[in-house]
Amino acid sequence: MTSTYDVVVVGAGVVGLAHAYHAHQRGLTVAVVDHADRVAGASVQNFGHACITAQSGAALQYAIDGHPHWLELARKADFWAAESGTHCVARHEDEFAVLEQFAELRGEEQVQLLDRTELLNRLPIADTDVVGGMYLPLDLQVDPRTAAPAIARWLEGSGVDFYWRTAATSFTPGVVRTSRGELHAGTTFVTVNHDIDRLFPEYAERDGLTRCRLHMLRATMPLRAPLPSPLFTGWSLVRYSGFENLPAVADVAARLQADYPGYVELDLHQMYTPQPDGSILMGDTHVREITTSPFQSEDGFEVLLTEAKSLFGVDRIDVAERWQGTYCSAPGSEFLLEQPVDRVHIVTVTTGIGMTTSMGLAEASIIDAGLGDTHPLTATR
Ligand SMILES: Cc1cc2nc3c(=O)[nH]c(=O)nc-3n(C[C@H](O)[C@H](O)[C@H](O)COP(=O)(O)OP(=O)(O)OC[C@H]3O[C@@H](n4cnc5c(N)ncnc54)[C@H](O)[C@@H]3O)c2cc1C
Repeated sequence: MTSTYDVVVVGAGVVGLAHAYHAHQRGLTVAVVDHADRVAGASVQNFGHACITAQSGAALQYAIDGHPHWLELARKADFWAAESGTHCVARHEDEFAVLEQFAELRGEEQVQLLDRTELLNRLPIADTDVVGGMYLPLDLQVDPRTAAPAIARWLEGSGVDFYWRTAATSFTPGVVRTSRGELHAGTTFVTVNHDIDRLFPEYAERDGLTRCRLHMLRATMPLRAPLPSPLFTGWSLVRYSGFENLPAVADVAARLQADYPGYVELDLHQMYTPQPDGSILMGDTHVREITTSPFQSEDGFEVLLTEAKSLFGVDRIDVAERWQGTYCSAPGSEFLLEQPVDRVHIVTVTTGIGMTTSMGLAEASIIDAGLGDTHPLTATR
């Protein structure tokens, strides 16, 4: 194959597809190359949660900018997306203190504090230990199984060329070498997630990139009412950058460390996202390695099930699926953005926020590469 495009995107996950979308919207000719035969990476393995409000800095800006694009793409590519917001339950006074400080910092448009009664009226959880909660109305969710594959199908039907089962192997200015020949590209975006260490090992080693693997479950439970939105717990408060500098977070972290050393060892993040078919995605735990072990302990699943039973007050959970998700992780950073070769851009999200940030990140990277001005959607807001 030898073809010429304004933009070649390597990697058909949500980050690559977002680049293809923004380039295509600007009237550019676009090709997407992926060594798999379909979208099957981190972009379908996740919670489908655009946890916009819990971000900070550049990630928060990308997340806010990406919000209208997710909704626009859901309409165009016909996949389920919901402006459901996020609830967070506080089951200890120190967790509620974090929520109060977050509400004070961000204001009512972003964070609505809920007392115990209000939270219990909204969520089908057991009343044990509940102190209160918060609602983050700006957050979105999509069904991760269908969203990115639907975007790929829609782009393919709209004139973007997809080269599946085709591996990119090396890059020179204007040329992408692949396992099926060369593609000529005005600009190339390399959006291969953690596999960036196989194409540009020097950047991966410099930034300490690893593969982070997670225990995940899809299950149904006999709840008294449907879960109306993604649900965070106290474990979320020690995970997202938006909470990081709040004074009460240190108390939560110290208590969790003292009371649940085994869970801290698993790097537990107890969260839930309801799906359109009534099932709930549950997770997760975290193990960071350069090459992932294929062997996944049962401990992580047991903890997820025990904690879900206790939180929702149920004695039965029917597990439909278990899987090991993998995302890219680097200590102390959220993005790896480099231009190793003239007009070749690496765009990697280096923590578990690619669903939240990809749409805004891709728009910024298209603009930074000199491929157009502000997207029409963003300009009218
Ligand atoms: C369990 C789990 C839960 C998560 N939950 C959330 C969440 O709730 N919210 C959120 O915002 N984020 C979440 N994330 C993170 C999010 O899923 C990722 O950040 C995001 O999907 C990364 O997208 P990507 O396109 O970079 O990677 P991927 O989807 O992994 O796509 C990379 C693609 O590159 C291809 N590729 C690799 N090398 C080559 C090559 N040489 N040539 C051609 N193709 C190549 C691969 O085949 C793959 O299709 C979660 C991740 C996991 C695993």
